[in-house]
Amino acid sequence: MARLPLLLAATLAACVTAGTAPAAEAAPTAREARRTVHYRLEIPAPATQWVHVTVTVARPRGLKTSLAMPAWTPGSYLVRDHARHVDELRAEDLRGRPLAVTRVDKQTWRVDHGAGGFRVHYRVFAGEPGVRTSFVDDRHAILNGAAVFLYLVGETGRPADVEVSLTNGWQAHTALPALPGTAGTARFSAPDYDTLVDAPLALGVPEVRGFTVGATRVELVFTAPAGSNADPTRIAADLQKVVEAFARMMGGLPLDRYVFLVVADETGDGGLEHAASTLMRVPRDMFGEPAGYRRIANLGAHEFFHIWNVKRIRDAALIPYDYAGETHSRLLWFHEGFTETMEQQALVRAGLVGGDEWLRELAGAWTTYVRRPGRNHVPLPELSFDAWTKAYKPAPSHGNTLVSYYEKGYLLGVCLDLELRLRSSRHEQAGSLAGLFRRLMVSHGARGKGITYADIVAAASAEAGEAMDAFFARHVDGTEELPLPALLKQIGVTAASAAAPRAYSGLVLEGARIVKNIEPGSPAAAAGLMLGDEVLAVGDLRVRSNEETLARLGERKPGDEVEVAVFRAGRLVRRELTLAADPHRTWRFERTPDATLRPEVIGLRRAWLARDAK
Ligand SMILES: [Zn+2]
Repeated sequence: MARLPLLLAATLAACVTAGTAPAAEAAPTAREARRTVHYRLEIPAPATQWVHVTVTVARPRGLKTSLAMPAWTPGSYLVRDHARHVDELRAEDLRGRPLAVTRVDKQTWRVDHGAGGFRVHYRVFAGEPGVRTSFVDDRHAILNGAAVFLYLVGETGRPADVEVSLTNGWQAHTALPALPGTAGTARFSAPDYDTLVDAPLALGVPEVRGFTVGATRVELVFTAPAGSNADPTRIAADLQKVVEAFARMMGGLPLDRYVFLVVADETGDGGLEHAASTLMRVPRDMFGEPAGYRRIANLGAHEFFHIWNVKRIRDAALIPYDYAGETHSRLLWFHEGFTETMEQQALVRAGLVGGDEWLRELAGAWTTYVRRPGRNHVPLPELSFDAWTKAYKPAPSHGNTLVSYYEKGYLLGVCLDLELRLRSSRHEQAGSLAGLFRRLMVSHGARGKGITYADIVAAASAEAGEAMDAFFARHVDGTEELPLPALLKQIGVTAASAAAPRAYSGLVLEGARIVKNIEPGSPAAAAGLMLGDEVLAVGDLRVRSNEETLARLGERKPGDEVEVAVFRAGRLVRRELTLAADPHRTWRFERTPDATLRPEVIGLRRAWLARDAK
């Protein structure tokens, strides 16, 4: 029986309500069926936030089997120890007789099952709202596989199926193909554990919209447990333009179905990519302004481009996923940063952002970036490698020693795109960053082969029509400043900068007037101010906010001396600060007037910034 009062008939296949599952897959072979790991999920009392899980292994290998919870969620490079949410784990044979269970380590249990099949029962607490974790309340549930499903150690290649018991009239939405269910349940199948946990499950009563691009069916599953001022139809229309733009840029889509799972709640925390879906969490009230729709279009574009970059074109170091602990990649600047570049380009191609508007935003991003003292401190591969211990575990020193590989990778991606366009034009080719991804898709992604850094350099060189090694040596392996203003000039965009009129202290504040960073070589550094100092007064005047503090300092002239009073671990400290001229500049990027440009430069600029360009 279908219970879809709010849904269009066309979206029926998008969800599975009690007893209505369409059979989307051929029946497994007898051998596959024997190897299949069955998972059953029940949430008998959603307000308790416990998800009860049963794992059934009918034909185990050997006499003992180790089962483990992943330490991390693929796509988010932080050890989260999902085992900390596991409770009441026990095992039994298929006739219900208890079996011995031995703890092996923080996340692994070994079951002594002898020659027969076995079941493991446990419950997981789903109380962490977020796109990498699981959360249940009385209105809906978001289940991320890595935080829910135990895996069989050394046997993640076994097929899996999952049966979800539906309560409260909820539907189940996921990118996994549906199997026929019984009344009150939904069932889905996965060819292996990687695929199973790469498809989050959304349970609830969402609004669903659908559209088709080429041969690909795309669904938007929009859950707002406490309501939202969003119009899901408008979101779907924007996402359709984005997906169509990507299909044009990439020469088609590499899947036949994709699902945007969106949760709109109080805070929102971004999105996480999956091979055939994304889970995005956004603030429910952000849609009163057009900027809210812009934000979700950007987020959706970013996650959608990951179907190529990181899900199919994938760092060889990440294959196979090691769920037991850290898997280091030196390519996150490519996987995340360049995905940001392509996200921005897709919004221009989709007509959701004008070329000139995007140039203004790029100038803003560049202004912010070149103020970051840590931007050229460590090469990008090292920033990427350290994601686990640094990017996701901020420390006070990071302001001067690190930069986000998203932020620098984005601007590097813009620079590389421009280099490829400019250089290839000299060889009568039309190279671009999108072209680089098309090449890697053909050579690696479509063949399931992991990429290396050398593959990226080789694809860039082929796209440029000349060797690109020196560019990567300078800006990826090396820490030379990104050449964005110079490249813009070559493609017919004027990059002008102006000095800030304010005096400069080098203080960065956060929270309640707390010193978050002190730029190296700045007046604040020379004066001996410290991270963590609480600013109380500038000169004779009390300051009550960060803005007021920076205004009091900034309204003086370079060369002026001013006393700054702070609390340092409860002790009053006074320091004399000699203000300087601000070394930072504010950038403006604008199209150079056509009259001063050669026609080929105008053509290249048009190909870069126009809505209908490739
Ligand atoms: Zn991403």
